[in-house]
Amino acid sequence: MSLQAPSIDSLALQGKTVLIRVDFNVPRDAQGSITDDTRIRAALPTLRAVLAGGGKPVCLMHLGRPKGQVVEDLRVSAIGKRLEELMELPVTTLTESTGQAVSDSIAGAPAHGVVLLENVRFHGGETQGDPELSKSYAALGDLFINDAFGASHRAHSSVSGIAGCLPSAAGLLLEKEVQAFGRILNDPARPFVAILGGAKVSDKLTVIENLLDKVDVLVVGGGMAYTFLAAQGHSVGISLVEENQIDLCKAALAKAAERGVRLLLPVDHVVADRFAADAEASVSGVDIPEGRMALDIGPKTQELYAAEVEAAKTVVWNGPMGVFEMEAFRAGTARVGQALANCSGYTVVGGGDSVAAIGMLGLESAVDHISTGGGASLELLEGKALPGIAALGQIA
Ligand code: ADP
Ligand code: MG
Repeated sequence: MSLQAPSIDSLALQGKTVLIRVDFNVPRDAQGSITDDTRIRAALPTLRAVLAGGGKPVCLMHLGRPKGQVVEDLRVSAIGKRLEELMELPVTTLTESTGQAVSDSIAGAPAHGVVLLENVRFHGGETQGDPELSKSYAALGDLFINDAFGASHRAHSSVSGIAGCLPSAAGLLLEKEVQAFGRILNDPARPFVAILGGAKVSDKLTVIENLLDKVDVLVVGGGMAYTFLAAQGHSVGISLVEENQIDLCKAALAKAAERGVRLLLPVDHVVADRFAADAEASVSGVDIPEGRMALDIGPKTQELYAAEVEAAKTVVWNGPMGVFEMEAFRAGTARVGQALANCSGYTVVGGGDSVAAIGMLGLESAVDHISTGGGASLELLEGKALPGIAALGQIA
């Protein structure tokens, strides 16, 4: 799969109404106030580029999971307000996302401003990718830009559907993601090291499969390491093990050996008697004692993994090395995160919890690319084409 998408420059924006799928699905508190507007800020460059090119931006977004019904708490009005503050331009927030009234409101909205349409998931057809709904959206504009990387693994009407109806391109945010993942997946500088962790090996086996064809070293930590260790016949105590994945882990180990990929597993662990922040923690060797669960990689493993990461020319990281939410089990993730920051090669982090860990460690600025889409980045690492990207640029 070659990962690419046409850029905004390929569209003639002047005088055009430009539908833009954005990822404004921001976290909010119980009162509905926005607690983090990073996702709104991230789309501003694309909106400004459209305005600078003489186009009128009309944003489509989803918020939460209203499941095809109008849910008052999931209206986009608060987001429209924040967007207006950030853009310092008039934002017209509508209470519908299709139909003649919407079309008229777009036509009547200030020329140098932004229109924000209502939550697209109020339509039942949205998440089904209903082609009629795609056409209704497309009827509102002349061009389409997808800037919602975080939704691009979904074949939804407002994500990939509109691109089947109008000339389209990737927004600046989406383009950055495509370039970052294209760089590591298509033509990585070597050595290329992947760090994989997180809770369940079953979530990540397809990623492992795909990356074994690409990387020089695969470093495994987190909960998924223990199913691998069990597959090698080590004792794992009461650590997280997915019995039904053991054969697949064996197959991955065999594939790694066949490809000449060094697949590294922990050689020591931080273990506890239970899954709790105040559990008594100690260090164990590779074999985990009975009644103990491994909740982080041990000090020797930390140094081994850090050395691999620091020597790499390309690194991709998905999944924390331990239960980093609890201080006692954070050191492995912190050490590997620090190594990533020290690495002079090209570094990419994807995955919701991994990105949160990088934020918690204050290392954002030391990483070359932090992906804005957990699920979407995982599917790219699995080698899948994302519908929201593949659909772009098909119509002239
Ligand atoms: P990401 O969101 O970055 O893709 P995952 O969702 O796969 O990562 O995994 C993150 C979760 O894995 C974290 O909540 C972390 O606490 C958990 N985890 C990491 N190591 C372990 C472990 N040894 N045992 C149990 N859970 C773990
Ligand atoms: Mg996660």
